[in-house]
Amino acid sequence: MNQQSLDEIVKDVITQLHNNNEGSSSGIPIGVSARHCHLDKIALERLFGEGYELTKKANLGQPGQFASNETVTIVGPKGSIEKVRILGPLRKSSQVEVSQTDAFKLGLKPPIRDSGNLSNSSPITIVGPKGSIFLHEGLIIAQAHIHMSPENAEHYGVQNGEHVRVKVGNERRPIQFEKVLIRVSKKYKLEMHIDTDEANAGIVKTGNYGELLKAGSSYD
Ligand SMILES: [Zn+2]
Repeated sequence: MNQQSLDEIVKDVITQLHNNNEGSSSGIPIGVSARHCHLDKIALERLFGEGYELTKKANLGQPGQFASNETVTIVGPKGSIEKVRILGPLRKSSQVEVSQTDAFKLGLKPPIRDSGNLSNSSPITIVGPKGSIFLHEGLIIAQAHIHMSPENAEHYGVQNGEHVRVKVGNERRPIQFEKVLIRVSKKYKLEMHIDTDEANAGIVKTGNYGELLKAGSSYD
């Protein structure tokens, strides 16, 4: 084998490694969101007691957001799920985000929604160590989305509220996500959020990378 063909093989191998989602660092970093809930102050105190405050377990990808040590049980008509992590800081209204698999287990039919858009979402019961609450609405399956800064948006040529496609080039099980919502804010760091069902469909893990593809006008 001559030096030139060896060089070509090496180049091919490097290209393949880069195309593999574990190896690329030029794309959109992906964060897989397990089921979790956001609470308002009233809900936290009902579940954990008056004056209770969340304690931080780990920082999340987005600045200021954290996973707390506290967990709750969520209950639906067909079943319950324990150890659902509470994410902080507290929000204006309580919200529970699950996967479709979780929803089947609970016996509920939550809509796919952007975070915070809770109107007519599913009811859910939340049980904590000191009490429980029933939310008339608040259970959703989160719409896949990408957090990004205005600079990122300019780089990718996209705008807040736009939908895009994202390809994840996992060699054995490549997958393409459709209708991924772009969310732009100065507070955001570049990161795509998908739930565990979406991740499992393509064996995608937190820290993998996706390639943003413009969707054109196909979703408008
Ligand atoms: Zn997110």
